[in-house]
Amino acid sequence: MALIVQKYGGTSVGNPERIKNVAKRVARFRAQGHQVVVVVSAMSGETNKLIALAKEISANPDPRELDQVCATGEQVTIGLLSMALKEIGVPARSYTGGQVKVLTDNTFTKARILSIDESNMRRDLDAGMIVVVAGFQGVDADGNVTTLGRGGSDTSGVALAAALKADECQIYTDVDGVYTTDPRVVPEARKLDTVTFEEMLEMASLGSKVLQIRSVEFAGKYKVKLRVLSSFQDEGEGTLITVEEDKNMEQPIISGIAFNRDEAKLTMLGVPDKPGIAYQILGAIAEANIDVDMIIQNVGHDGTTDFSFTVNRGDFAKAQGILEKVKAELGARQVTGDNKICKVSAVGVGMRSHPGVASKMFKALADEGINIQMISTSEIKISVVLDEKYLELAVRVLHRTFGLDQSI
Ligand code: ADP
Ligand code: ASP
Ligand code: MG
Repeated sequence: MALIVQKYGGTSVGNPERIKNVAKRVARFRAQGHQVVVVVSAMSGETNKLIALAKEISANPDPRELDQVCATGEQVTIGLLSMALKEIGVPARSYTGGQVKVLTDNTFTKARILSIDESNMRRDLDAGMIVVVAGFQGVDADGNVTTLGRGGSDTSGVALAAALKADECQIYTDVDGVYTTDPRVVPEARKLDTVTFEEMLEMASLGSKVLQIRSVEFAGKYKVKLRVLSSFQDEGEGTLITVEEDKNMEQPIISGIAFNRDEAKLTMLGVPDKPGIAYQILGAIAEANIDVDMIIQNVGHDGTTDFSFTVNRGDFAKAQGILEKVKAELGARQVTGDNKICKVSAVGVGMRSHPGVASKMFKALADEGINIQMISTSEIKISVVLDEKYLELAVRVLHRTFGLDQSI
């Protein structure tokens, strides 16, 4: 007998028929003698609808109230799934994050989990029940409802698995595992049987939304056995996220291509080239709680320099406003911006022992006439910023260049 946490994403519970199918799958695991805790997302599209609704009332909704609204999506699916289980004779009980209780900090809309009380869940599991928990939500020390950021149900699933010391956390979604790149963009993408935590962390942080980044961090930290599988197929081992590289296998140099459309670039032209400038520009941006990704400062000439950085596209207008103010203080020449850029990245632990990966990537892009605007590298990834119109082409070309469409 094993204790398994299964998380079902929005598409997997997207309509009553699918919810009934999830119930049948969960019942099968129970019939095999396993204890199951199920974490569900809101029905697909529901969280987007709730956010849009909030924005019709307020252009900049109060974060506490926004969480109050957004958390309702998952409250619907836990109730429906528990009903579906009872309908087929399986005892089940649903819990909101607060009822569990999943204690978080009070950073509304992107709260972090602090602790999980497992007592209610244990009691129900021991009584032979299926426990159904709302993903994406928790409660702070003052009893306020909080949410964990978009895609946060993955993190709920992994955190519950860690708290319960579950044998495995299974993330059921609309693809049958982690692929070499998003199979919606490159149909030739291949499913990976295993991927290391390190690579999965990079892929998630560089835009592969198949797993929320925090869920991967959590699984790595608490040694949760994490697997991604399809909720639409009965067969298949999915993709196992592993701690170690498979020493028996020749590591591919690149494991995957990740991309992110959600990017924007800002440049301050003609900044006086003297100490403290980066701090003055980026300090003001950080104070406004805007995350900065890539940064480039050009070599100075005529005593001035150009300073560029990228932010999330949603923060573009706000960052532009801040730079206009800083420009006046610094006596810089001009602020320019581009919110039609994207970031494409090649990820792989094999890169460590193989020089020349970057030049191969740059040549492949050059051969297609794709201009690289910014570059950033780490030990196991190379990222480039490109005009958004090249996104699909660049992903396909790099996927092919690194031989990812061929089985190994
Ligand atoms: P869920 O609603 O189940 O949480 P998501 O939409 O959040 O599902 O994540 C699954 C989607 O992630 C897939 O449909 C796929 O388009 C996308 N995706 C992006 N990169 C990858 C990748 N490397 N492997 C698999 N899926 C990916
Ligand atoms: N429903 C939330 C979202 O759409 C959480 C999740 O699906 O993981 O972001
Ligand atoms: Mg998701």
